[in-house]
Amino acid sequence: MIVYGRTTTFRGLVCEAHARERLQHDLTSTLLLGWWGAISIFVNGLYIVPTQIASLVRLPRLFASTAAPAADGTTRPSQS
Ligand SMILES: [Zn+2]
Repeated sequence: MIVYGRTTTFRGLVCEAHARERLQHDLTSTLLLGWWGAISIFVNGLYIVPTQIASLVRLPRLFASTAAPAADGTTRPSQS
């Protein structure tokens, strides 16, 4: 039997679409592969997965606060 664990951190400037894509990829990987160790089942189930879901929920608010006002006074997400 092979036991393998990997922790990654992403830092960078991305648009909302790419941030969502990255978070969804990380959440899917954790849900599929993060349950195979005695420690991982607790760390991933009680901390990592809830944190990733909370990040996905908060994402629109994060980008709304950085939206630049348009000429007509409305706001649109900034392009990056
Ligand atoms: Zn992008």
